[in-house]
Amino acid sequence: MKGLMMDYQLTIPTILRRAETLFGKKEIVSRMPDKSIHRYTYRDFALRTKKLANALHQLGVKQGDRVATLSWNHYQHLEAYFAIPCMGAIVHTLNIRLSPDDLTYIVNHAEDKIIIVDQVLLPLLEKFKSKINVSNIIVIPQTGEKIADEYLNYEEVVASGDASEFVSFEGDENTAASMCYTSGTTGRPKGVLYSHRSIMLHTLGCGVGISEQDIVLPIVPMFHASAWGFPFVCTFFGATQVFPGPHLDAENLLDLYETENVTITGGVPTVMLNVLNKLDENPKRYKLSLNQALIGGSAVPRFLVKAFDERYQIKVLQGWGMTETSPVASTAALTSQLLNSSKEDQYTYQAKQGLPLPLVEIRGRNEDGFIPWDGATMGELEIRGPWISSSYYRDMEPEGKFTSDGWFKTGDIVTINEEGCIEIKDRSKDVVKSGGEWISSVALENTLMGHSTVLEAAVIAVPDEKWMERPYAYVVPKEGKTVSAEELKEFLSDKFAKFQIPEGFAFVEAIPKTSVGKFLKSALREKYAQEHK
Ligand code: ADP
Repeated sequence: MKGLMMDYQLTIPTILRRAETLFGKKEIVSRMPDKSIHRYTYRDFALRTKKLANALHQLGVKQGDRVATLSWNHYQHLEAYFAIPCMGAIVHTLNIRLSPDDLTYIVNHAEDKIIIVDQVLLPLLEKFKSKINVSNIIVIPQTGEKIADEYLNYEEVVASGDASEFVSFEGDENTAASMCYTSGTTGRPKGVLYSHRSIMLHTLGCGVGISEQDIVLPIVPMFHASAWGFPFVCTFFGATQVFPGPHLDAENLLDLYETENVTITGGVPTVMLNVLNKLDENPKRYKLSLNQALIGGSAVPRFLVKAFDERYQIKVLQGWGMTETSPVASTAALTSQLLNSSKEDQYTYQAKQGLPLPLVEIRGRNEDGFIPWDGATMGELEIRGPWISSSYYRDMEPEGKFTSDGWFKTGDIVTINEEGCIEIKDRSKDVVKSGGEWISSVALENTLMGHSTVLEAAVIAVPDEKWMERPYAYVVPKEGKTVSAEELKEFLSDKFAKFQIPEGFAFVEAIPKTSVGKFLKSALREKYAQEHK
């Protein structure tokens, strides 16, 4: 119709063009596997990205082909993040923490054409290389050792590309741009395809408050769920990016925060807990510019929010999401009403999962139908929006994950309060159903982890003749500390009803974790079953 706005497609090359033309002098810093620091500018990044795109084209990559990456967070991975979709292909991030079996399955299922791999991760690829069928393996040189003749050298590939011959993808915004498989805690991993449009809208709408002034260090891996969108957001807004490579221990992270004057970081609670503990060992040691930590991936314990704010003036912004939701779908940014409340009320709010982002809609449902928004009734969260999956790649085992009226069933059990604030109580497979009542394992864990002697705690449901299920806690004491089950029961008693208090406690050296650092409760359930035959 005459008089309307332009038909401007929301595609990833828009981000690359903007970064190149507006932020050419800004820096991208990477800690490499050998711990050396690499620095270059967005101008260098854009040039190399175009060369890589052109080189991939010369290697026969066509629109819609999948090009996989098996890489840590660093500048070459960022180049692949942009070069591949900017030439119309699909960047498929492989999760380096999955088993060789799962990786074989994923590469074959996605029919990846080329894999770009870190030299330090080549031993992992070599475990399953014979079972996959790709036309080229491109190795990013990192160790100084010669790259075997059967592989291409990433730097030589980039050098062979001609930036002036780069042909930018100018197709439909609803074309696939990137791809990630779920980590498959139950069943086979499932493929999630992100379109140019969904990435662009998520980039604009994920509400993490990054601006050109920020210096951002994403700890969350670029090999899972697009590092929560950080690479796209930072590049679009021209923030300085600082990549930690494979060095994710608290000491290395804090060192980078300090030397690079990082202002925003993002990671899962377990990693951020390590950072907090390291800071606490010697609170005056680091001079930090950090003012915000985006934490998500599993529930953020309230004490973590409080400790970062009170002791180090670092604001925690909790985000909730999943691979299927691009991933950020809600954040617990303080509302105007809360700005005038006490700090304690603010911390309580920040420990919830917050409000759905603009363009994201939510509802909850249980056996009785849609749950009321009363902050008390629990139900499964359903969600829809332009960056939420509508199906899995090649329609694999949908398992009733999508409703007939177009909503995605998250598998998360939540309450929603009258303001629309989500509180995740559990994953549906982890919730404890005791005598007809649901007990939130997450609430128990987060309270236990607030005890001065407890480093980590995970609660599972165990079978019980009378109550069907009872909660049972696995607890890791802090180094040099001991604590008894009685003390912990006493500690929980004024915060939980009697029936919610764990039936038993086991003290262990570590909680098994998933590939992305979450508690692996299936392993604990197996352990319990083994020990209680
Ligand atoms: P998977 O581990 O299956 O690949 P994701 O990495 O996509 O899944 O993780 C998604 C799940 O992580 C969510 O369904 C939810 O259970 C959990 N999760 C993510 N963020 C939060 C959060 N802020 N609080 C509680 N749980 C969270």
